[in-house]
Formats: sequence, C-alpha cells, structure tokens
Amino acid sequence: MSTATEVICAPQQALEALRAFAADGMCGRCIPCPIATRQSIAMLERITSGEGEAVDLDRLTRVSTELIDAARCPKGEEAAKKLGEALASPEFARHVEGICGSGACAALTRYRVIPERCTMCGACQEACPRDAIEGDPFIAWRGDNKPYVIRLEKCDGCAKCVAACPADAIERVT
Ligand code: SF4
Ligand code: SF4
Ligand code: SF4
Repeated sequence: MSTATEVICAPQQALEALRAFAADGMCGRCIPCPIATRQSIAMLERITSGEGEAVDLDRLTRVSTELIDAARCPKGEEAAKKLGEALASPEFARHVEGICGSGACAALTRYRVIPERCTMCGACQEACPRDAIEGDPFIAWRGDNKPYVIRLEKCDGCAKCVAACPADAIERVT
C-alpha cells in the first residue's frame, strides 16, 4: 500500500488497484473477470520490473476492453474501466522502452550527466560498479577531452554515481 509521500508511477498505480480488486472486490463468480485480472496483474508486474514489452500494452488494452463487456457486475466493470483509463498514460510506453521517469520502478530508473554542470572530475566513473560511464577527466592542455556520458544500456539505476558527484551534475532520466 502506498503512502502520500511515496513515489508511484501510472503502471504501479494500475497494479495496486488491480491487486486491491483481486484481494478485496472480486468475487470470482464469473470466469472472464478472475482470468483477466490475473493476466493483467502478471503483465503489470512485468512492466514495472523492467521486463515489459510493447505487446503487453496491446494485450492489456485488449483484456480491459473485453472485461468491460464480459463483467457481470459494476465492480468488475469499474476495475476494467480504470485499467483502460490508466493505459492512456504515456508512462506505459516509456516503461516498455526501459524508463520509469518518476523513479518509482527501481529496475527502470536511469541517470544522465548534465553537461553544463559537469566539471569532468571523474568521480562518477570511479563509483560506477557497472562500467557504465564513459569520459575523460579534464586536462586543460588537451582540448579534446571526452565528456562524461552514462550508457543507459549498461546502467542499472543504482545511483552510486549520483552520490559520488560533487557537482550535483547527474539527474534522473524522465
Ligand atoms: S465481474 Fe463481478 S461478478 Fe464477475 S467475478 Fe468479477 S466481481 Fe465477480
Ligand atoms: S546509476 Fe549506478 S550503474 Fe548507472 S551509471 Fe550510475 S553508478 Fe553506474
Ligand atoms: S562526478 Fe559529476 S562532475 Fe564529476 S565527472 Fe561525474 S558527472 Fe561530472
């Protein structure tokens, strides 16, 4: 259960709502509702843990539409409608692209260097356990210093670079 101060993204909100419905609202008297709810929860769990694919979004949309028609009570219909509304958020597409901009999904949180703030000290590179940061420390006479850049495909969102940066020059990708 989230608190008022907890960061939560649209896919996590949809997941929480469906889990609450499965635990408390759903009676299981008709077949499509529990099946659709279980399938949707599984897909939302994949999406929020960084394993979602574009096809999951299509399936979720289809499942929510079918359930609106198949539900035999207002509770089931309401749950399906809420899921359908949630899916309109662009956050879902970003999640399957690999980014949770709010930082709510740890597996999908990524960082970037802000070039205007970076002093090219190299502390982030030293702190990174995944060798995900490229760049060279600043040497005045060189003139061809390679700026610091985080390779998103290597980054796992651990935020050790953020803690190591003395210039507050690393921000979350949104
Ligand atoms: S649609 Fe309504 S009646 Fe059917 S299983 Fe879901 S909650 Fe129960
Ligand atoms: S978040 Fe972690 S893995 Fe990603 S660049 Fe920073 S230190 Fe490296
Ligand atoms: S620690 Fe900060 S200032 Fe230093 S190179 Fe990395 S991003 Fe730039």
